[in-house]
This record gives sequence, C-alpha cells and structure tokens, in this order.
Amino acid sequence: MNEKVNPPKRFDVIVAGAGAGGVCAALAAARTGARTLLLEKAVEIGGTGVHSPVSLICKFHGRDHRPINLGIHRELFPHAYLHSTWDFRASAPRLTYDEKDLAAAYRRLLAAEPNLTVRTGCGAASVRREGRLLHSVQCDDGSDFAAAAFVDATANGNLSALADCRASVGRDSDSALQSATLVFAMSGIDKSRLRVAEFSTRGGLHSLWRELTSLYKEAKARGETQNPKGSVVCFPYPDGERLLFNANEVVGVNPMEAGAEEAAIKKGRIFVDDLVAIVRRHPAFAYATVEFIATKMGIREGRRILGDYTLTQDDCLGEARFEDMVAACAYEIDIHDPDGGATRMVDIPGSGYYHIPYRSLVAADADNLFLGSRCISGTHEAHSSYRVISGVSAIGQAAGTAAALAARCAAGQARAIKPAWIRHVLREQVQFVEGTVEPPPGWQGPEMS
Ligand SMILES: Cc1cc2nc3c(=O)[nH]c(=O)nc-3n(C[C@H](O)[C@H](O)[C@H](O)COP(=O)(O)OP(=O)(O)OC[C@H]3O[C@@H](n4cnc5c(N)ncnc54)[C@H](O)[C@@H]3O)c2cc1C
Repeated sequence: MNEKVNPPKRFDVIVAGAGAGGVCAALAAARTGARTLLLEKAVEIGGTGVHSPVSLICKFHGRDHRPINLGIHRELFPHAYLHSTWDFRASAPRLTYDEKDLAAAYRRLLAAEPNLTVRTGCGAASVRREGRLLHSVQCDDGSDFAAAAFVDATANGNLSALADCRASVGRDSDSALQSATLVFAMSGIDKSRLRVAEFSTRGGLHSLWRELTSLYKEAKARGETQNPKGSVVCFPYPDGERLLFNANEVVGVNPMEAGAEEAAIKKGRIFVDDLVAIVRRHPAFAYATVEFIATKMGIREGRRILGDYTLTQDDCLGEARFEDMVAACAYEIDIHDPDGGATRMVDIPGSGYYHIPYRSLVAADADNLFLGSRCISGTHEAHSSYRVISGVSAIGQAAGTAAALAARCAAGQARAIKPAWIRHVLREQVQFVEGTVEPPPGWQGPEMS
C-alpha cells in the first residue's frame, strides 16, 4: 500500500484555505498548541480580502459601542479599534483597510507561530476518510497530509465537499447565489473638484456616491452599460486619496462550476471599462487612473455545509444568544440580489449583534471536521451577514481553537469538546465571548497538554 511506503505527513490540525477565516483558524490552532498545517491552493495566501480586496471594515461593535470581536481581527486591523463602527455621524471616518497591509499582517502573524507550517500552491484535491473520521488530505501537487482534526476554510466548502458532506447552495426558492463583483481601484483623483472635497468621512463619501451615481444613471438610461447595479459604490483607502470600487454585479456565477469565475471576470471587465469611462466624465476623475482591476472575481456565496445547527435570519435579527456561542457578529443582513436588483440590507436590532453557535461550526456528516470560513451551517440570509471579514475571522478563530482542543483532548472528535472549554481558551486569547467558561482538562496553556 502507498501509505506504508510513503505515509502522509502528520499534523494535529490541517486548515484548508488561507483567506481571513483560514488564517485566523490556523493562528488560533497553533496558539492553542496544535501542530498545524495551513494549505492554500493559490500561489499566495490572502483569499478574497487580499486578492479581491473589499476595503470596508464591516461592523464589529454592539450598539452600545462595545467590540464583539476582539480577537485576531483586532491584530489585523488595530486602527479600526480606535473608532466605533456604529458611529454614523457625517464626520465619522469610514473604516477601511489597504489589502497590502492586510497581506503583510497575515504574513507577519503566520511567521511568528513556531507550531505552524504554511504550504501555498497546494490545494486539497481529495480526502481519505475512515468512517466518520477524516484521515488525510491529498493535494494537487501530489503531497499527502494526515491530521486528527480538519478545518474547512475554503469559503465554498470545498474540503467538506471532497469529504462527501451535505451542503446547501443559494436561496431556498431556486438555489440562486448572491451576485459577484469585480473590484477595481482608482488613484489621481482631484478632490478639489468634488462638492465635498473629502471622501474619508461618511458624509463626504455619500456626497461622492451621489455625484457619481447621477452620472452613472444618466449613462445607464442611454444604454451605455448593461451593468445591473443601480448605483456607484466605492470606498476610500486609508490614505484618503485612492478609491476602491465595488460597483458591478455579475449574476448567475456559481463558483463550484469549472470555468465560472473566468467567464465572470470577462463580463466584469466590460462593466469596469464602462464605469471608468463614465466616472471620467466627472472633472475630479478626468485624469484619474485605474490602479488595478482585481485578478480574482469577488465571490460572495458558495456552499453552506450542513452542520449540527443551521443559523437562520431569525437568529440574526432576533439577537440570538446560544449556550454554545463561540463567536459573535454585528453586521447587517446584506443580500446582493442574485437577479442583480437592489441590495437588501437589514440592521441587527436591539443590542446589534447575535451569537454564532459551536454547532454551526461542526460538519454534520463527520466527527472531526470543523467549518472555519463563510461555509458554516447557515441559511442564505444568515450567511449574507456573517460572511464579512469581521464575521469570518471570529468564526475562523473559534473553529481553529476547537480543532486544536479536539486534537489534543479528544482524538479530533468535535462533539467531545465543550463550548465552555473553547470559550475559556478564546477568552485567554482576549477574544469576546459570553457564557460560562471552563478550562479544558489538564489545560495549563498552549504549551501543556
Ligand atoms: C465584492 C465583495 C465585496 C465585499 N465587501 C466586503 C466588505 O466591504 N467588508 C467585508 O468585511 N467583507 C466584504 N466581503 C466579504 C468578505 O470579503 C469575504 O466573505 C471573506 O473575505 C471570505 O473569507 P473566507 O476566509 O471565508 O474566504 P476566502 O477569503 O475566499 O478564502 C478562501 C481560500 O480558500 C482557498 N481554497 C479554495 N479551495 C481550496 C482547496 N481545495 N485547498 C486549499 N485552499 C483552497 C482559496 O484559494 C482562498 O484563498 C465582500 C465580498 C465580495 C465578494
């Protein structure tokens, strides 16, 4: 047998996918004392937040202005913690990031973990199972790795699909997925030609959106673009000079279908060219240049893996409080219409946040598979909320911590781990948790078992 001649290299925890969720999961697992392998199929780590940059740091405060994500997210975006994401005054800053800074923060934090190995250009291509336990992952470069516990942080639930786990896709009525977007950035904007010569504040940015949207709507009425998006949305970089445009909707993109992303990029580029031509009619943009057009399509939604609990819109809007909470999210329900119509946004009422239960992070069809990115078990509507970087970083941190505890205390078995143990470790690592905490058996910190 192949295994006897060349057995897979063994780790405690394998995390597949190195976007926000996977990086946080891998850091958390390594910091909980697990020998961890982070696998990324792309040549560089970073995932959507770096390679299809999104700019905006979405809400992570309760309505009382307390941060409900204090963990690795704060290490990634320290500047955002100087402000509240519930500050809606016109003079309040829009909290944004530069993808180069985020990529550098990922590299710095990952390099600092002695328990962590990172392999890029190494996509999980198949999974070997023994009953309900995943045993090992075979990668597309021929390498083979085994572990006690696995974290699926591939965004679209690719690892779980390879392990034959059940999943849902899209909205209930017809499985249609949220629209996708090809983002691009512009620089060289003459701010003195804008009605409000500053777009780093909420008030200034909304004024800019109004100016550009009016030009765009006129052009759309003349048939100059087929882009279904109804308005121009862009966000400032932290330098207050450049803008990241999130301003096209490509519908009908199913990232699980071969070739779908490439076809979507082609369509997206046409919309980008249309929009650049339109905004250049504004005097402030007459000499602006396109800094880059993303090489990766911005995909909002993929598989949602069936877990022990499926988080719903009612849970989000009902400010759910779960006994097995391991993460929290404050971001709105935010559905980019699969048909390309208006975006539906609904605030989380009351306290402004809801709990994410451990059961939604445990794949129903396996015993040692944790969900650590936007592929957790939830409905189309709930997913539209926790999918943002603040949500997935908290999910990833919780999943990585749980996987490490499972590997160390329970031979990888997710259901043998108490949520209070996970919360204990998360709290020690200064993450926001609510509910009782209990040290895992024999716990004396990451270095002890
Ligand atoms: C256009 C757009 C705008 C958005 N705007 C915002 C915003 O303003 N603010 C915000 O916070 N969020 C925003 N989001 C959402 C947010 O960016 C993403 O949901 C989030 O970054 C997803 O993180 P992730 O870790 O789940 O997945 P990803 O970052 O997509 O990472 C998944 C990784 O898994 C890898 N992978 C896939 N398959 C395999 C495999 N078989 N083996 C190994 N690796 C694999 C991929 O290459 C990828 O690197 C936006 C999303 C889009 C598309």
